[in-house]
Amino acid sequence: MSAEVETIILGGGLTGLSLAQYLEGETLVLEAKDRPGGLCRSFVKDGFTYDIGGHILFSRDSELLAQLTGWLGGNLLEQRRNNQIWFQDRFVKYPFENGLYALEKQDIFECLLGFVERSGGDPANLEQWCRFRFGDAIADKYLIPYNDKIWKRPAKDISVHWVERIPSPPTADVIKAAIGIETEGYTHQLNFLYPERGGIEALIHALAKGVNLQTGFRAQSIKKTSSGWQVSDGDQTCSCRRLISTIPVMDLAACLDGAPGDARAACDALQYNSIILVMLGVGHEGLNDKSAVYIPGPDILPHRVCYMSYFSPHNAPQGSSHLVAEITVPPGDPLLKASEDELVGRVAGQVADLCAITPSEVTASDVQKLKHAYVVYDQGYLANREKVYAWLDGLGLYTCGRFGSFEYLNMDQCLEQARGLAAQLNK
Ligand SMILES: Cc1cc2nc3c(=O)[nH]c(=O)nc-3n(C[C@H](O)[C@H](O)[C@H](O)COP(=O)(O)OP(=O)(O)OC[C@H]3O[C@@H](n4cnc5c(N)ncnc54)[C@H](O)[C@@H]3O)c2cc1C
Repeated sequence: MSAEVETIILGGGLTGLSLAQYLEGETLVLEAKDRPGGLCRSFVKDGFTYDIGGHILFSRDSELLAQLTGWLGGNLLEQRRNNQIWFQDRFVKYPFENGLYALEKQDIFECLLGFVERSGGDPANLEQWCRFRFGDAIADKYLIPYNDKIWKRPAKDISVHWVERIPSPPTADVIKAAIGIETEGYTHQLNFLYPERGGIEALIHALAKGVNLQTGFRAQSIKKTSSGWQVSDGDQTCSCRRLISTIPVMDLAACLDGAPGDARAACDALQYNSIILVMLGVGHEGLNDKSAVYIPGPDILPHRVCYMSYFSPHNAPQGSSHLVAEITVPPGDPLLKASEDELVGRVAGQVADLCAITPSEVTASDVQKLKHAYVVYDQGYLANREKVYAWLDGLGLYTCGRFGSFEYLNMDQCLEQARGLAAQLNK
């Protein structure tokens, strides 16, 4: 069987579907899984709906926010963030520098002194950047352990080309936080939008309306023809004039023949992390008082737990509440082979105290493992990425999205990229 269209979009995640909405002309979205959504899928188990880590909608771009609101129609809640950090034996308001008042006096003193005396300078890696921007004490107590944990490598091995996206705290806010005056950090996501029903996947369903989408099509080979491209999954071949890929760039490269050696080697050297999600549901409403807890401590597997029924009460059956724990792992990590029972048992035991639940209260659980979750900005990232995209751009195919462009993008940035590419191609 074969189909021919003007534009084929590989990947039916947020980027692929929004591209199909923004582009003029005939498009076909080819998605490997049996349903679209990619990292914006939500999962339902025993009446509990959870995302791949609570997915909050926010943007500095009011036009984009209006568009999101329009797509979701009335299915939308506006929520206020209540994130906490589990630091040693207590909760500290997120971000850490805005919650200093909750620390022991000696820790407050060290954090404040470190912040005031920070040296500044031109950092060569993420560890140095944390020290230069926040001072040694905030870096050592929280930022470096948390970053080591989420990136699964020392912060000194992470590049700094991207760090300007992390807001800088005003000095006054840090001083106020140290003496107990309330302040807020990361204000661009203090209030966020979230679908009332259906988890973040509701956005995908809204976007998929009217889109020519084929699921169960995993692109395996891509050939350039005189008039465009042919994409095959082994059974079917689809032809198009223009090809846009939003699938992980390493998977795209594997579909193409004739990569120059340096581009192939650079592609193999691109780093990413996978994620394991553990959902725990309890038969009471105890997990409704926070949006998320960040956990820098190395003895607890997850780096973050999101309280999904805080995002929307419809995410849990009445009288219940639940969390989803996020554990990043490098590809091939033995933890990816751990059984569901083992992961649920370990996580339930480790988060029991900080989440004020007992493992025996867990009435529902589920586990998901996803291969491509986080782009890792290691020190070789920029040079490797440049070689890979020089090759792909030279072929005349387009790439877009989190793993398509291999950048650490949030949903709003995926939409911005898709909108920009569509505007360029619609001309
Ligand atoms: C834990 C976590 C929490 C996050 N939280 C937030 C948040 O709170 N707010 C926010 O704005 N963003 C958040 N994000 C980021 C957000 O999920 C992504 O930016 C966005 O979903 C990426 O969409 P995408 O379409 O570019 O990629 P993907 O979602 O990865 O979609 C790619 C699609 O391609 C398909 N595919 C792969 N290979 C093939 C193939 N060979 N053939 C056909 N199809 C293929 C996949 O199945 C997938 O559907 C979070 C991400 C993670 C991992």
